[in-house]
Amino acid sequence: MLQALYDEKMEEFRRQFLKLHPYDRAKFYVEQSPEVRKRMYEYLSPAEMAEIFDHLDIEEDEYKIYLSEMDPLFVAQMLAHMYADNAADVLNELDKKEVANYLTIMDDEAAKDIQGLLHYKEYTAGSIMTTEYIAIHANQTVRSAMQILKKEAAQAETIYYLYVVNEQRQLVGVLSLRELLTSDDDEMIVDIMNDRVVSVFVDEDQEDVARKMQNYNFLALPVVDANNHLLGIITVDDIVDVISEEATDDYSKLAGVPDVDIQHNP
Ligand code: ATP
Ligand code: MG
Repeated sequence: MLQALYDEKMEEFRRQFLKLHPYDRAKFYVEQSPEVRKRMYEYLSPAEMAEIFDHLDIEEDEYKIYLSEMDPLFVAQMLAHMYADNAADVLNELDKKEVANYLTIMDDEAAKDIQGLLHYKEYTAGSIMTTEYIAIHANQTVRSAMQILKKEAAQAETIYYLYVVNEQRQLVGVLSLRELLTSDDDEMIVDIMNDRVVSVFVDEDQEDVARKMQNYNFLALPVVDANNHLLGIITVDDIVDVISEEATDDYSKLAGVPDVDIQHNP
């Protein structure tokens, strides 16, 4: 694969690289030199780079380095293709001016999604939620809900739950994909949805969200504001990160070492 890059064989590189799981693509990407990475930006589309960035596991300050290697328009397009919560995480590491730049050249729809996520406090439900969820209405049929599902499935972070909202976008119910698939086409959503929805408040601590997710065993939890308006969802894969972060924190405290870097005295 690396050889294909060195030999400037774009098709060969793409054929091998795109077969890898996004996590392995991300691992390959961070192991390369800046020169090789630059070739990757030429050979991959912003959408393909977005998949890599959605799976990157790097220190926060490293985002700056990678982004500075890319053309600003490429960065904006890549951020627009990422899940909004991940894109907001990346932008939170940059200066306000840079953020404004990227958001201006990005398409409006994506910019709006990301912008909405930028001002949530760190370590809260709002900071780890994503806005790419599937919402349906109580007074529609299973058939029409299926059409919405089909239309939005590619964009949604998870299709496992459909959240039912009213005209004010307040959360009134939830339905699992399995429940939808096993219902008759003519059935009304209101008759099959669960109306006692477990949700988390947008300012709630991410640790509490993790606990709730574990206790209830859901694959995602909806996030609401004080008036029960649906703002986003948190999926279990984002919670796995929270749990491992907290575990590292707690372990460091126990061992009496600082969380981040060990200090070296001269
Ligand atoms: P599976 O067999 O794959 O588990 P399922 O339909 O049982 O499918 P679960 O994820 O186990 O899906 O969800 C269990 C139940 O909880 C479903 O009836 C689902 O609609 C409901 N549910 C999902 N999210 C919530 C929530 N936030 N609050 C309340 N109920 C929920
Ligand atoms: Mg179940």
